[in-house]
Amino acid sequence: MAKYKLEYIWLDGYTPVPNLRSKTQIKEFASFPTLEQLPLWGFDGSSTQQAEGRSSDCMLKPVAIFPDATRKNGALVMCEVMMPDGVTPHPSNGRATILDDPGAWFGFEQEYFLYQDGRPLGFPADGYPAPQGPYYTGVGYKNVGDIARQIVEEHLDLCLDAGINHEGINAEVAKGQWEFQIFGKGSKRCADEIWVARYILNRLCEKYGIDVEYHCKPIKGDWNGSGMHANFSTEYLRTKGGKAYFEALMAAFGEHCEEHIAVYGPDNHLRLTGLHETQSIDKFSYGVADRGASVRVPHSFVQNDYKGYLEDRRPNSQGDPYQIASRILKTIALVPTP
Ligand code: ADP
Ligand code: MN
Ligand code: MN
Ligand code: MN
Repeated sequence: MAKYKLEYIWLDGYTPVPNLRSKTQIKEFASFPTLEQLPLWGFDGSSTQQAEGRSSDCMLKPVAIFPDATRKNGALVMCEVMMPDGVTPHPSNGRATILDDPGAWFGFEQEYFLYQDGRPLGFPADGYPAPQGPYYTGVGYKNVGDIARQIVEEHLDLCLDAGINHEGINAEVAKGQWEFQIFGKGSKRCADEIWVARYILNRLCEKYGIDVEYHCKPIKGDWNGSGMHANFSTEYLRTKGGKAYFEALMAAFGEHCEEHIAVYGPDNHLRLTGLHETQSIDKFSYGVADRGASVRVPHSFVQNDYKGYLEDRRPNSQGDPYQIASRILKTIALVPTP
């Protein structure tokens, strides 16, 4: 038997953007526990905007477990927040509202800034660094600095050790801006991994005195904002597809533009301006290889007789992947498959 450190992680009740919260529970197991072995646990919801002080208990229901390489016998346990009965989802629990489909595959591209002393890492105390251009996928101290690369690499290793399905990382267009991509089969799995990857990044940065800025447009002016492009496909899109189905799907996306934007992250009007590789927030468009469109259609999709995956470029870096995936699946479900 060994004592395991189980870090129960959940999303609090703050709006429009929930914060990550966590606390540690020690339990003895013969080997690394399975999800089924993990107990429900309570917390004080009155401190997280999830309950009134007089009746403050909320419950944590484990939904995914990952090894935590930073701790001896450590585990990261992603949880859903439940009402005191342990079975009714709390109103803040967006994950419980997803109609999951194992045939739905998602690839999220999480962009973010590393921040120190109130500005992006590598920005001088006064003014700005050299304009954007060399930073995207850049190399060398003047482009990416020193500490950023170290953090990004450490984060990647911690995520891979946890079994998170990272597909890649890159330096982004603005100085101090980075991206990682996570791919998952089943929307819940992929969204869980995004939240746990965010958790690992936030925690890692503590020791460097650095914060992760997820806001979609932290620097005004000629600096890119941060997105979280959602690449998606369904079994039907991958195997049948076709031009008529694709056009019907895009018509449904156009019709429900507002509902999508509503869950694609706050302040998105600051980022979706029509500039910096975006479409304006109030317009819906799609285009082959078009990074100025709402939905980018990969070349391969058209060449493959309209089969494959699509990229919704509108979700932003602060968006909740549970809500984003949930909305995309809802719109897809409105379109009959021929
Ligand atoms: P770019 O920066 O050019 O938009 P990335 O390589 O950063 O592209 O991201 C592309 C994403 O598309 C990856 O995260 C990948 O997992 C995802 N993806 C690839 N194939 C599929 C698919 N069939 N279904 C859903 N997502 C996919
Ligand atoms: Mn990318
Ligand atoms: Mn990017
Ligand atoms: Mn992209």
